[in-house]
Amino acid sequence: MARIAYVNGRYQPIHRPAVPVEDRGYQFADGVYEVMKVVGGEPRDLDRHMRRLRRSLDGLGIRMPMSPPALEAVIRETLRRNRLKEAVVYLQVSRGAAPRNHLYAATLKPSLVVTVRRAGLPSAKEWAEGVAVVSLPDERWARRDIKSISLLPNSLARQKAKDRGAREAFLVDGDGCVTEASASNAWIVDRNGTLVTHPLGHGILGGITRERVLEEARAAGIPVEERRFTLDEAKAAREAFLTSTSSFVLPVVRIDDAPIGNGHPGETTRRLQGLYAEAAGLHPRFHQGT
Ligand code: PMP
Repeated sequence: MARIAYVNGRYQPIHRPAVPVEDRGYQFADGVYEVMKVVGGEPRDLDRHMRRLRRSLDGLGIRMPMSPPALEAVIRETLRRNRLKEAVVYLQVSRGAAPRNHLYAATLKPSLVVTVRRAGLPSAKEWAEGVAVVSLPDERWARRDIKSISLLPNSLARQKAKDRGAREAFLVDGDGCVTEASASNAWIVDRNGTLVTHPLGHGILGGITRERVLEEARAAGIPVEERRFTLDEAKAAREAFLTSTSSFVLPVVRIDDAPIGNGHPGETTRRLQGLYAEAAGLHPRFHQGT
């Protein structure tokens, strides 16, 4: 069965041309997106994703293409037409189509595309044994809190990481601090056993998984600090991990040539893997950090 996409009011086979050549998303990367996880047919954290979508759109001065309830209906209908219950939803809003010009009119009608695909879950090996990351300079723009479709620096970094045999890239700013990873938030457990991640602000994307993991950690009494940390501190940390909608809580066991802790996923990471998996209703294979 061909996958069905929602494109500006129509449900149609995903490969059918649908977006105008002069869509500003295509020509200027002038748009934002969201990625949501669907478990048992239910989109998770829909309200949080909608809030972040609105924040991203406000940041660029683009209108919401429709109300959040109407958007939810489109997401559910796209899932239904694709007969998917375990899935990932991709939703993209661009400023709209207009003759190519850096300047744009406030009256443009935003374009909306929604696609869904089967969830690509972390492998049992990655989940249990952890992954390697490499450090790379953070070459993105200064508004990383906006979930912009302009992902070229992220994509180049992720590819470089893969070419070097790593799963992800820790991105390092001009002060030597790790902001986040190319498609996930970055965490460490420091020498004092405190869970540390970069604070919110313009420097990182406020991940929904990050938000969830912070809540789980605080509820479990794990000491938490939202502060900046350097690459050197990360390499000397007891533990490190990544969070994102599609890879959940993924242990990091090596940064460049440095093994993290004893080179195996740490205790706090395992605990958070289990807490997050249970709270998110993930398949039991994810409940234990084993
Ligand atoms: N940072 C970046 C740069 C990302 O692209 C993502 C995921 N798309 C995240 C963090 C994690 O966000 P979330 O937990 O909402 O998936």
